[in-house]
Amino acid sequence: MLCITHGITLPMAILIIEDEVKLATILDRALKTERYATDLAFDGKTGLKKAMSGNYGLIILDLMLPKIGGLEICERLRASSIHTPIIMLTARSTVSDRVSGLDVGADDYLIKPFSIDELFARIRAVRRRRKTVDAPTLKIADLVFDTKRHEVSRAGKEILLTPKEYRLLRALLLSLGQALSRRQLIDAIWGPSFIETNNELNVHMAYLRRKIDTNSAKPLIHTIRGVGYAIKE
Ligand code: CA
Repeated sequence: MLCITHGITLPMAILIIEDEVKLATILDRALKTERYATDLAFDGKTGLKKAMSGNYGLIILDLMLPKIGGLEICERLRASSIHTPIIMLTARSTVSDRVSGLDVGADDYLIKPFSIDELFARIRAVRRRRKTVDAPTLKIADLVFDTKRHEVSRAGKEILLTPKEYRLLRALLLSLGQALSRRQLIDAIWGPSFIETNNELNVHMAYLRRKIDTNSAKPLIHTIRGVGYAIKE
């Protein structure tokens, strides 16, 4: 599945944290056929470290994991203000597990064994719910982006953006916490036929960063080495 926003096509990255290699591989393949980008972690410690990067659009998280369990991962992510949607997987079907999973900030829950179609449906539902909650005002930390009024402010102070900076910030916010490649950002500003000749993206990104992050102790726009950029706390 692809996120289509104003004609730009962004593959969503899904992190799978699952110690059953066979199941993880099946999920990985199935998600790839649906054109999601995927990443895998086979134990809780690796999974937590990857998830903490905030580079994913969604996390599929097994409950029973070696090193660090699923509940603790979920709890620690939310405590660190990583709000990536999480779908928990478990073989145990007791009510208390379900409740504690949702208590610590999971978005949904799937009991093993489940069908791939069921998982796809849950992923779509979680994404839809998150979008409805977020629109039309997008927020991160003290940055508020009102898509209806085309107004942007940080810590209550209005920030005036050029149309290109506006499109750039919008693309970053729509993929909150997930890194976007240079090409995806260029598509968002100029469209897919644009060919960079003078580092135009860097120029507009520098202007945007100056406006958004210069007067704040907490920069929100981050360079993700080897990938591109992301907006996150
Ligand atoms: Ca397991």
